[in-house]
Amino acid sequence: MPSNLEKLRNIGIMAHIDAGKTTVTERILYYTGKTYKMGEVHDGTAVMDFLEEEQKRGITITSAATRCPWKGYQINLIDTPGHIDFTAEVERSLRVLDGAVAIFDASEGVQAQSETVWKQGQKYNLPCICFVNKMDKTGADFEMAAESIRDKLRASPILLQLPIGMEGSFAGIIDLIKMQAVFYKAEKLGAAFEETEIPSELRQIAERQRNQMLELAAEFDEHLMDAYVHDKPISTEMVNKAIRKGTLSNRLNPVFVGSALKFIGVQRLLDAVVAYLPSPLDKPDIVGSVPVSRKMAKWGPGHKPSDVKKEVAVKCDRNAGLVAIAFKITSDAHGDLNFLRIYQGTLKSGSRVLNANRGRRENITRIFEMHASERKILDSAGAGDIVAVVGLKETLTGDTICDPKNPVCLPSITFPGTVVSMSIEPKTGAERAKLADALADLRREDPTFESEVNSETGQTIIRGMGELHLEILEHKLVREKGVDVRVGRPRVAYKEAITKLAQVEGKFVRQTGGHGQYGHVVLTVEPLRTADGHWSRAIEFESKVGSQMVPKEYVPAVERAVRDALSSGVLGGYPVVGIRVRLVGGSFHSVDSSELAFEQAATIAVEKAIREAKPVLLEPIMRLQAVVPEASFGAVQAGLLGKRGSITACRTHGNTRVIDAKVPLAEMFGYSSEIRSATAGRGTFTIEPLTYERLPEEMAGKIIL
Ligand code: GDP
Repeated sequence: MPSNLEKLRNIGIMAHIDAGKTTVTERILYYTGKTYKMGEVHDGTAVMDFLEEEQKRGITITSAATRCPWKGYQINLIDTPGHIDFTAEVERSLRVLDGAVAIFDASEGVQAQSETVWKQGQKYNLPCICFVNKMDKTGADFEMAAESIRDKLRASPILLQLPIGMEGSFAGIIDLIKMQAVFYKAEKLGAAFEETEIPSELRQIAERQRNQMLELAAEFDEHLMDAYVHDKPISTEMVNKAIRKGTLSNRLNPVFVGSALKFIGVQRLLDAVVAYLPSPLDKPDIVGSVPVSRKMAKWGPGHKPSDVKKEVAVKCDRNAGLVAIAFKITSDAHGDLNFLRIYQGTLKSGSRVLNANRGRRENITRIFEMHASERKILDSAGAGDIVAVVGLKETLTGDTICDPKNPVCLPSITFPGTVVSMSIEPKTGAERAKLADALADLRREDPTFESEVNSETGQTIIRGMGELHLEILEHKLVREKGVDVRVGRPRVAYKEAITKLAQVEGKFVRQTGGHGQYGHVVLTVEPLRTADGHWSRAIEFESKVGSQMVPKEYVPAVERAVRDALSSGVLGGYPVVGIRVRLVGGSFHSVDSSELAFEQAATIAVEKAIREAKPVLLEPIMRLQAVVPEASFGAVQAGLLGKRGSITACRTHGNTRVIDAKVPLAEMFGYSSEIRSATAGRGTFTIEPLTYERLPEEMAGKIIL
């Protein structure tokens, strides 16, 4: 582990699918000496995309962590997937990173998913630098790309480079800080380069851009401001210091340019990572919480914020008590591999640690520094580091691992809900148990994957973030887990919600001689909406009664029964969301009342309340972005309108059209083949969950039946 934390960088690469993340990563591994052979995405040899599934599809699915050295620094690189079906992967990677590189396609600028990922990054206040890739591609336009970073992302781009030439003639870059031109030697795969004078025809524009750059940077450093205003000499160090300050405070986004494919610009990007992105020491302390009770075993995974007492600052200090978060789990034949980001203290191989969320002690058997699919054994790792460990048995993504003597919980990682489901069954009855085990493995690895057995039909149902997500998991079952399965058609994960307020009573009274049963509750239900007027995805429960009506010890049983009843609505058995339930009255019997009786009473009341509150079905609405040839625009537009879609924006870009639309997920199955035939194979699209909206009445009839 690096002893000098200032020289450590934990960074992620984020981008829209196909912008070139994998190619850039491959170049980074090559130039930093981690690989000896350059891998290429298009021939399926990229090191980071090591899963067979990824090699086949040429996309990055699992975020693999890898460590690479650069000029005396250590860079922990997390490769994040661009496809929104794997959004959980992005979310959990961003959570543990200190900074990010956003990659854009020079001919497209900011695309739908780069926007989504960027927003996710902003949630964590992640300092970010930008790389405009593919300058060699037809249609490449550096200015347009930089503009789109400013306009669409509302970011603060500061251009530190300019391209020399573009498209087929893209030859090198101008460094606006050192005021030199850099040309990379393709025959050495870009590993060798030449720094020369700026070509005379570009001198003027370079001067102008440098001035603009200095003006922006000077805001962050008095000395630079003074030198700039008074025309004094300006050193590279002065400029770097100001830009670093602006980047760390998330008020500047340095922009670089290049072509990973043509081996141009990647080393300078690495220089920028160490120069401008934060070390773990630059990050503010994290606020953790200390549990009330030292009896950690009482804690369940569903503990509430009210169960915790005082907040504590978790500091990047290797001598303090251990605090780490588990952000990814993969399981293979040798057991689970947990990826940890250590925030405080030192983790030692062979030590006992506490999982603070579950109140369980766990063993750390081995610690590994990861490099794509290879690993190096470490004796210990400290604050700031990202490592993988073996030995944790009960730890799930988002759990905090800490020193048993000083329990601390970090805020967990939240994941979006699933929108698609499919039935799944083994091809042979004999494989039923194997399938159940394999599904349990997948659930542990992927927090956005769910599976359950329907108690009425006995059918196993899997749920995920999109058609592609489930398709990939299906292939994983067959290939990696060796279970042959048959899956049903993908189905939309509808939800149910209520539209008005209702108050009802539920009574459960049994008198069977001797000991009877008595439970009685009065509940109100009301719709719960978000600020923008959509139904919230949450369920809230509140008790407003005194012990003279419902004794305190029965309230948890009522809440449990309410939540349980809401998991299956009255229209189509879909989960009810966006609802606030209040316990407002009731009565009890000193002998006959029990938890069970109150549970029954609450279940009766909830069902009645939902029926009275005019329930409706909600369907997931997706945000779609399609890029299609101009000539096929009409056909694609008509297709979308026929799918109850609405086009929210549309722009022309060269001879292609970029269409932004909102479309119900129910209409989107099989859309890939439809767009392919409408555009002679040249159109592409991406979709991601946007919101839930009320399903039109006439459609609801078909679903409920
Ligand atoms: P990812 O989906 O973001 O990981 O993107 P990939 O690295 O897989 O790249 C997508 C496609 O773009 C592949 O066919 C790459 O060979 C190609 N590509 C990557 N970088 C460049 C570049 O700088 N210029 C051009 N013309 N193509 C590139």
